[in-house]
Amino acid sequence: MIIVFVGPPGSGKGTQCELLAEHLGVTHLSTGELFRIQMESGSQLGTIAASFIDHGNLVPDHVTIDIVSESLGEAQFNVGCLLDGFPRSVPQAQALDALLAENSCKVDLVLALDVDQKTLVDRMLARKRKDDTLETIQQRFEAYEKLTRPLLEYYQNREILVTVDGNGDIDTVFEGIRQAMETAKS
Ligand code: ADP
Repeated sequence: MIIVFVGPPGSGKGTQCELLAEHLGVTHLSTGELFRIQMESGSQLGTIAASFIDHGNLVPDHVTIDIVSESLGEAQFNVGCLLDGFPRSVPQAQALDALLAENSCKVDLVLALDVDQKTLVDRMLARKRKDDTLETIQQRFEAYEKLTRPLLEYYQNREILVTVDGNGDIDTVFEGIRQAMETAKS
């Protein structure tokens, strides 16, 4: 089963993906983490990614699509996986559809986390990541509204989108995700 997590910055996708991946026994692929690993290693890809991430911008689609294509393999196609933070734009979603189709797979479910704006900002400022200044946070919200929100309609039209309330504590949100998955199955 291929599950895509969508949510604004700070919505807790990473935390919930980890819990759900363990619960389902599948792997969890986070493009944010992939980029952070590259940035820490000082690779050329990391330098390119940092020039976008540090200003609150999305890394260009072709760079992101390449790194995901390299990271997905037999295990993910056969057993399934959770995609955290990818796709983040309609062109990325189209590229993912093509990649999955080549491997006789498709996106089965899209979980969209819905969180109030104030909670998002508080959570991001609390985690004190380098790209979490007020200025970059604002820019990331703008990028989310412009590039990522249209994805919700893209998946809604395919009737695979389920929205989950992400405002509560970690356990409450996870329970909402489990219920949403049960509903989606039936
Ligand atoms: P958050 O969910 O708080 O935005 P992530 O760890 O998912 O944090 O991502 C960190 C940054 O990595 C994003 O702000 C963005 O610049 C970049 N990034 C992650 N995934 C993608 C993607 N699919 N396309 C483009 N940029 C991405």
